[in-house]
Amino acid sequence: MSSTESINLLGLDIAALTDLVGQWGGKPFRAKQLQRWVHQHGVDSFDQMTDLAREFRQQLTEHCSIHAPDVSIEQRSTDGTRKWLFDVGKNNAVEAVFIPEDDRGTLCISSQAGCTVACPFCSTGYQGFNRNLTTAEIIAQLWYAKRAIQADIQSSRIGEGALAAPEPARVISNVVMMGMGEPLLNYDQVLGALRLMLDDNAYGLSRRRVTVSTSGVVPMMDRLGRDCPVALAVSLHAPNDALRDRLVPLNRKYPLAELLAACNRYLEFAPRDFITFEYIMLDGVNDSDEHARELITIAKQVRCKFNLIPFNPFPQSGLKRSPATRVRLFAQRLMDAGLVTTVRKTRGDDIAAACGQLAGDVKDRTRINERLPDRAIIAIKQERG
Ligand code: SAH
Ligand code: SF4
Repeated sequence: MSSTESINLLGLDIAALTDLVGQWGGKPFRAKQLQRWVHQHGVDSFDQMTDLAREFRQQLTEHCSIHAPDVSIEQRSTDGTRKWLFDVGKNNAVEAVFIPEDDRGTLCISSQAGCTVACPFCSTGYQGFNRNLTTAEIIAQLWYAKRAIQADIQSSRIGEGALAAPEPARVISNVVMMGMGEPLLNYDQVLGALRLMLDDNAYGLSRRRVTVSTSGVVPMMDRLGRDCPVALAVSLHAPNDALRDRLVPLNRKYPLAELLAACNRYLEFAPRDFITFEYIMLDGVNDSDEHARELITIAKQVRCKFNLIPFNPFPQSGLKRSPATRVRLFAQRLMDAGLVTTVRKTRGDDIAAACGQLAGDVKDRTRINERLPDRAIIAIKQERG
């Protein structure tokens, strides 16, 4: 087997790894050992796996590899946010962002190079779509970021001369699939990655600490509920079909009534007893008191919390962020109706790591950016005018 055909172990779940090891006569526990070396210790060389027999390590070296895509850019924000740009080949790049907070460290990862949904407020959607990421490429973002963060902790410990446990914000405690792409339009590969995130011999995250964000791919929400019910965030962004058809074009296929019914079905399996509705605040588009009233009616149909996201502008969008006073008032309207509402803090602004600014280069195969967003923006402007 040549090196180009070698199997990247990052993409194998426990079943696939057990099969592989079994082909060489290895017992299932060898697969678990291997998993711990790869994902918990983050090693990339089989020589470091000291408790594996020499012949087994030779087999692995011959047939397998452990590698993330090349990182072409790495940036740090003044607020501690870190961003990595992964080169996934043929001029496509995807991004992962680590956001440290007092009580948690959240890694935001990508699922596709580009996105076909083409929401006009999203720079990923604007770029069009190239391809789905593989399980290995999705999990590689977590594997790589974890190594980078651990290396940081180690170097700062040398400086401090102390061996205190890392603070919560300095480990990856949460993963959100809110980077580039629509995770539920790359279902099988995302499912493989989610299973590794939850596996005790890999990343051991609880289902509450892994969140899939979706623009509303109804049939796949049902499958996720059955296969791997992690926390779910739904990108709502509009309180009626007419507006949502423009802001989230997938709404034309799965309109609000179907989406809300799917949310309720998901809640039967979900690790939390609510769905998070994400709602981007666009000046003069979806942020009026009337929109808040409509939203309150919708929210009565599903147990939910709201996360208001101030729009992060990018040059081609032609859209503006709602003023801070409007965001506060809108939040107040929802809270007055008894809805739990938070406003997302914008992080990593100085390195364009905020939501919707993730725009690793994508070679658009669909030429979507020549079609949909402009039309959608014009439609929104007409509505506003
Ligand atoms: N495709 C999925 C997940 C990736 S987008 C989805 O749409 O849910 C993750 C979140 O970032 C979504 O809520 C999306 O609406 C939001 N987002 C996209 N563009 C944004 C922008 N320019 N400013 C702020 N948030 C944005
Ligand atoms: Fe795709 Fe999500 Fe961006 Fe919409 S917001 S274009 S679904 S990545």
